[in-house]
Amino acid sequence: MMKKILIVGAGTAGTIMAVRLSRTLSRKEWTITVLDKDENHYYQPGYLFIPFGIYTKRDVIRKGARYIPAGVEYMLAEAEQIVADRNRVKLKDAREIAYDILIIATGTTIHPEETDGMMENGWRENIFDFYTVDGAEALAKKLRDFHGRKVAIHVAEMPIKCPVAPLEIAFMTDWYFTQKGVRQNVDIDFVTPLSGAFSKPLTSKVMGHMLGERKINMVADFGTERVESGKLVSYDNRSVEYDLLITTPTNMGDALLERSGLGDDLNFVPTDKFTLQSEAHDNIFALGDATNLPSSKAGSVAHFQSEILTDNILSYIRGKELKAAFDGHSNCFIEAGYGKAFLIDFNYDLDPVEGTYPFPVLGPFSLLKNTRLNHLGKLSMKYVYWDILLRGIPVPGITSKMGMAGKKIPRESS
Ligand SMILES: Cc1cc2nc3c(=O)[nH]c(=O)nc-3n(C[C@H](O)[C@H](O)[C@H](O)COP(=O)(O)OP(=O)(O)OC[C@H]3O[C@@H](n4cnc5c(N)ncnc54)[C@H](O)[C@@H]3O)c2cc1C
Repeated sequence: MMKKILIVGAGTAGTIMAVRLSRTLSRKEWTITVLDKDENHYYQPGYLFIPFGIYTKRDVIRKGARYIPAGVEYMLAEAEQIVADRNRVKLKDAREIAYDILIIATGTTIHPEETDGMMENGWRENIFDFYTVDGAEALAKKLRDFHGRKVAIHVAEMPIKCPVAPLEIAFMTDWYFTQKGVRQNVDIDFVTPLSGAFSKPLTSKVMGHMLGERKINMVADFGTERVESGKLVSYDNRSVEYDLLITTPTNMGDALLERSGLGDDLNFVPTDKFTLQSEAHDNIFALGDATNLPSSKAGSVAHFQSEILTDNILSYIRGKELKAAFDGHSNCFIEAGYGKAFLIDFNYDLDPVEGTYPFPVLGPFSLLKNTRLNHLGKLSMKYVYWDILLRGIPVPGITSKMGMAGKKIPRESS
């Protein structure tokens, strides 16, 4: 009898898994179904460029079905509840799907309502996110007409997806107002719950230095308690005033996980950090932003994890030990404005390293350095994402396991 793998979520992680599994599994034994509640697929890294008029929504939205390979069933449907004890997923439209193996790839979204006063005191009037297309577009409009004075770039709480994105929006905001010739009328604060600019020490130092150079004031260890009109207030009663708040609100996994009893307190799925098997059920696996792993919530991570998870699903099917181990590998461009960007590459154990990427000596990208080529790499990602990564086409030099050739461990982190 045919068996079924069901993938819930056809974003970055779910789509790449569908592609990889469709190439790996025997079609005589397995059917693959992938479902998503949204017919659109979003290239989320592109949201960063929308507020500054560099991209529009046309650059970041395509129909998801286009990327699902032939032979994989694609369903436009919302998963309402996973009934793990019965190996079934209930859909919002009351249908039920039985599975033998379930892959959770439902990502994470922003929840501004989690912060007291954020929705009530000027949401999309003088408070904007850039983690949604609508938010990024509304912010673009606001920035065009903004004449000063105080801008606060804000992170409500960790973890967030793409943890460098708030730094990028800060650098880009400085660049944008400088280009317009009005930077002297704008004060920028960077307000974060972290003790520095980033969670990894050396990157934090490099980014902190860049914030200082750009005259962006860092407000660290700021645990946001509430938002008042024009003011952020912390648990220890400090406050930051703003005329424009660019926030990254609390990130949470989909409510499906809460309804299914499969999520932690932020609805992330407790997952084995090496094998990607869910901690609660042997036949449920999770990858991408939906997990509770300490790796970054990033598209690059979802891509690396998909390679490991494909191997482990094959082992699971064959009744073998899950051997493939995810090392936490992540890499990320950090757009710095003025036509330059950084690139960082790290894993569970290593702080971002220095050197070249993806090839030793040849690069062409430089790690932990602000270069023009890195910026061109960041811009090229849009094409690489849609036409190469999402289609599961291997990229020479880009591997799930973090390689060390051409890299050196910075002294500060060894
Ligand atoms: C502003 C911004 C900048 C970023 N920059 C970078 C970057 O430079 N580099 C990088 O690597 N990453 C970056 N990212 C992060 C990257 O986009 C995500 O990490 C990546 O998309 C995660 O993939 P995913 O499949 O886990 O989640 P997603 O791609 O978000 O997909 C989740 C899918 O699940 C679906 N879904 C959820 N719940 C249900 C349900 N109940 N039923 C059916 N379907 C459901 C959703 O509709 C969605 O399609 C950025 C993100 C943002 C917001």
